[in-house]
Amino acid sequence: MNKLPNCPQCSSVYTYEDGALLVCPECGHEWSLDAGSAGGEEEKVIKDANGNVLADGDTVTVIKDLKVKGSSSVLKIGTKVKNIRLVEGDHDIDCKIDGFGAMKLKSEFVRKA
Ligand SMILES: [Zn+2]
Repeated sequence: MNKLPNCPQCSSVYTYEDGALLVCPECGHEWSLDAGSAGGEEEKVIKDANGNVLADGDTVTVIKDLKVKGSSSVLKIGTKVKNIRLVEGDHDIDCKIDGFGAMKLKSEFVRKA
């Protein structure tokens, strides 16, 4: 029987396999063995709405009206965003927009310009 690795989050030994995923019943963490520590640092690929790979410094266009968090302004569809920076997380684009300042966007709502 294969020994499953401990949970990377809480070190629980009670991990189990669920399809391609490993699941920790104690903290609820799910992860896949392939993306684990074995292959070293994995470059995260962030793609725009059309599936084009984005890179730091790219210019993108917003493809839908987006509400700006913490304000009543709306980032209009078609707004150009220059010099994006890719980051980890739910909102994976860090950028500065004229008139809005620094903000974060989701890559699924932009298109490479
Ligand atoms: Zn855990």
